[in-house]
Amino acid sequence: MSQLTQFHHSDIEDILENSISGKRPGLEDCKRLLESDDVHLMGLVAGYLARKEFGKKASFVNNMILNYTNVCITDCKFCAFYRPPGHEESYTVSIDQVESRLKAASEMFDITQVMFQGGHNPYLKIEYFEDAFRLIRKKFPKVGVHALSASEIDMISKVEHTSTKEVLSRLKDAGMQSMPGAGAEILVDDVKKKISPKKISSDTWLRIMEEAHSLGIPASATMMYGHVETYDDIAEHFVKIAKLQEKTHGFMAFIPWSFEPNNTLMQKEETVKYSAGGTQLLKMIAISRIMYGGLIPHIQSSWLTNGVAMAQMALQYGADDFGGTLLGEEVVSCTGSRSTELTSSRIIQAVKQIGYQVEERDNFYNIVRTC
Ligand code: SF4
Repeated sequence: MSQLTQFHHSDIEDILENSISGKRPGLEDCKRLLESDDVHLMGLVAGYLARKEFGKKASFVNNMILNYTNVCITDCKFCAFYRPPGHEESYTVSIDQVESRLKAASEMFDITQVMFQGGHNPYLKIEYFEDAFRLIRKKFPKVGVHALSASEIDMISKVEHTSTKEVLSRLKDAGMQSMPGAGAEILVDDVKKKISPKKISSDTWLRIMEEAHSLGIPASATMMYGHVETYDDIAEHFVKIAKLQEKTHGFMAFIPWSFEPNNTLMQKEETVKYSAGGTQLLKMIAISRIMYGGLIPHIQSSWLTNGVAMAQMALQYGADDFGGTLLGEEVVSCTGSRSTELTSSRIIQAVKQIGYQVEERDNFYNIVRTC
């Protein structure tokens, strides 16, 4: 690789050379990457690793998000979406509404995935989810059910007074096919105590994901950065997910996304005033590829919190998947930061603008068409 000459004089030259030879960084090298300002050099290597594996190609999924309830008793300080039980703006989507929304999105946009996510609503029993998933799988068989974060699974287990593994098993039988990675934030309990003290611990998130993988339910892993965490915390997060993946191989993708402070308690309390910005996104995308290349198959561009233009850059800095069209997204849109849905034609155009081929995929990253 001719660009190797550019590595000289960089404090991360050895880590990058190891990456090109197929050696992933450990905890200490991950910290060094995070502390380095050589973002573009990391991006050069991460982009090279992604192109070596995928060519100049990016995938996306035509999907919708169904935020089934905003009722939540967990009060995360970074969340602008939830409402406490009984609040005048609280809602729960009925099973009939699940059907009508799926019908509209299928007919109008030919979706192949629904992300089914919501608050921790203590009034929703497991039958609600079983009915929803059975209906979707029966009436919309093309649509993959990507549903419920580890913390929502934990909530259902508390409502039902049963184990999280039993909940996962019943929901899988009902049609839950894969799980989003939400609820991880940063897998360090000192961070969680500050931003989401009532949410499941890091070990519980990892345990529920391991249970899901053992039942044959694959998942995404995520990271929410740009709030109270340190680089040491982020490195710990990267390594914890890598260790679980080495054991289970159940993660299909990793998505680093930046915290959006607008309309959140953390902004009100002046803990975080502004989001982390574009360079930090590119650093996180590049490090994700360098940490997980050959281990977690896909890295997503994270357009939702950073916009289409940054997603184009992310594809050149190590991401291989643009993400989804996210019709109907309501959680991040509560921060009022930007439009949170795209059409497939906009994504196709954005990918082609950087000279890459575009492929539409399904819930399991199988290619359904070349665009
Ligand atoms: S992030 Fe999820 S669990 Fe936390 S308050 Fe918002 S809806 Fe509830």
